Amino acid sequence: MSDKKIIIAIDGYSSSGKSTMARRLAAEIGYRYIDSGAMYRAVTLYALENGIIASDGSINRPALQKALPKLHIDFMPMTDGSQHTMLNGRDVETEIRQLRVSDNVSPVAAIKEVRTALTDLQRRLGRDKGIVMDGRDIGTTVFPDAELKVFVNASAEMRARRRFLEMNDKGDDVNYEEVLANVVRRDHIDETREESPLRRAADAVDLDNSSMSIDEQNRWLEDQFHKALTRAK
Ligand code: C5P
Repeated sequence: MSDKKIIIAIDGYSSSGKSTMARRLAAEIGYRYIDSGAMYRAVTLYALENGIIASDGSINRPALQKALPKLHIDFMPMTDGSQHTMLNGRDVETEIRQLRVSDNVSPVAAIKEVRTALTDLQRRLGRDKGIVMDGRDIGTTVFPDAELKVFVNASAEMRARRRFLEMNDKGDDVNYEEVLANVVRRDHIDETREESPLRRAADAVDLDNSSMSIDEQNRWLEDQFHKALTRAK
């Protein structure tokens, strides 16, 4: 393989399987994987734990804005090849996946100052290329010049089913209806917010993975990667 490195942006709806495919591709091609959603989740967890989000879901914006410079978010590689999200030196990987965070993350992610801070951080992480990043606005806002952009979609029911099984596996006490309601609500907020809404980049390649196995998705993505690398040479 040549040492030319590219940026791969994988965007799409909640629980569309973006992270799984992005993580696997990165491991296969020796790139760094960055889960940008985990960063929005970490900010949300901080806000929940520090009384910045009230029990009715309302957000104290000035307090959140003030807290942003104090937040240090990064990823710690684990021996099994996965990585855990760290918030100010604390491993928050489990907490950020819980439904209370999922229920509050989209309104937090709609705040301009939050997006500016996290977009800066994401761009810094991609400075040397050789990165696979997944999210909602990676191909449109964070890396508009990414050499490969993929837009992933699947039906809301299929996505909620996958998320529900995943959470159940981890022992979370959730029911399918609440997971589906969360997925639909987050999609709506993500698509209609003013700041950097979820949009397919005009030059993205589409993937509807409703009826694809993980292996099929991976082969498809690897093929897209090799094509993009050839184009970039
Ligand atoms: O990818 P994940 O579902 O974990 O992302 C959680 C939330 O973070 C999304 O529902 C969205 O509101 C927000 N997000 C975003 N921009 C990104 C990644 C995630 O607004 N690039």
